Amino acid sequence: MAIQRSQAIFERAKRVIPGGVNSPVRACRSVGADPLFVAQGDGAYITDADGNQYIDMIGSWGPLILGHAHEQILDAIAEQMAMGTTFGAPTEIEVRFAETIRDAYPSMEMVRAVSSGTEATMSALRLARGFTGRDKVVKTDGGYHGHADCFLVAAGSGAATLGIPGSAGVPEGAARDTIVVPYNDLAAVEAACATKEVAAVIIEPIAGNMGLVLPAAGYLQGLRDITTKHGTLLIFDEVISGFRCAFGGAQALFGITPDLTCLGKIVGGGLPAAVFGGRADVMQKLAPLGPVYQAGTLSGNPLAMAAGLTVIDILARPGTYERLNEAGDRLAKGLAAAAAAAKIPAQVNHLGSMVTMFFTATPVVDYATAKTSDTARFGAFFRGMREAGVFLPPSQYEAMFVSLAHTDEDLAKVIAAAKTVLAAI
Ligand SMILES: *Cc1c(COP(=O)(O)O)cnc(C)c1O
Repeated sequence: MAIQRSQAIFERAKRVIPGGVNSPVRACRSVGADPLFVAQGDGAYITDADGNQYIDMIGSWGPLILGHAHEQILDAIAEQMAMGTTFGAPTEIEVRFAETIRDAYPSMEMVRAVSSGTEATMSALRLARGFTGRDKVVKTDGGYHGHADCFLVAAGSGAATLGIPGSAGVPEGAARDTIVVPYNDLAAVEAACATKEVAAVIIEPIAGNMGLVLPAAGYLQGLRDITTKHGTLLIFDEVISGFRCAFGGAQALFGITPDLTCLGKIVGGGLPAAVFGGRADVMQKLAPLGPVYQAGTLSGNPLAMAAGLTVIDILARPGTYERLNEAGDRLAKGLAAAAAAAKIPAQVNHLGSMVTMFFTATPVVDYATAKTSDTARFGAFFRGMREAGVFLPPSQYEAMFVSLAHTDEDLAKVIAAAKTVLAAI
């Protein structure tokens, strides 16, 4: 596999961009590899700067549920682009986007568009604090909600009530108001919320950022009951799960109504867009109606709205999620069988088109159990798969995403590659 051009670009990149990348996991450092510099994408495939082709199991970390360079998305962007790309004044397409989101997510009675998932979660939390007049927020260990200060907190084991900054540069004050609880642990949430100081519990209803971890039976309903009882808002961070696990997200799949919801990734159709929304009485606290300030120069960008509306329109077709889920099931079963054949202990967590293979004999139900994984073995697996022409998320603690562009044949190739690679490591 030739890599000369990629290496030359990486050398240049390192001189002007910290680590050579604009988002840290892209660097592939945790798997002992160099970043893959992508030249182009087409359907389920990407081609790197040296002309090597890979089956892409990242899909830009979730957004590309239709695959790369989908013709209808490109057409929608081009059509909008000819009329201008941004105005800083409202447009009808933003209203159509808001109506479409509300129709798909009835809990989101009113919505506001932003440009990234980070902005959505950060704004939702500010709103929850403004609405409740409380400062504290509960998040789960291993839960990721973008890179705002208050979410970059990972408490050490047993220190659930004592916020410890998970990043340099996060002030103690921001960390102090963040309470970290284990995923799937309702008692810890009850204890935190009983203080009546918690503005919001923010949760990935299907955790995707410690690798894929599913909510235990009754967990989400438990969160709903506890937060209601204590006057705390429940925020579903469905930046990954929205339009991914089901058209209506995890809230439709599990039948739980959160107070606020954050969507991102898929809703931008591959362009920068995200959205937060929820109960109208809460959303009306936002400026210009209310005292909670939130704004954005490119919020509701017409190109992103056009791309997002198009992807949602395609996803609404009958049979879409049956197809996606069936493909995800096939991949998960194939990977589990490949690990078993190679006698490698593995847990394949999966729901619909999201799949994580953890290299551990321990069932993975939270971050602590996720961390029992053999990450060195994952690194070897990643490198072997890349050599075999399959590009996986470069971390044990991420999910693979199957798109509608992945054919049965593509997935068979991924499974065959996994069989060979796992037998060799
Ligand atoms: C990706 C992600 C975010 C952050 O979104 P960005 O667009 O990267 O800022 C927030 N929450 C979850 C659950 C995510 O997966």
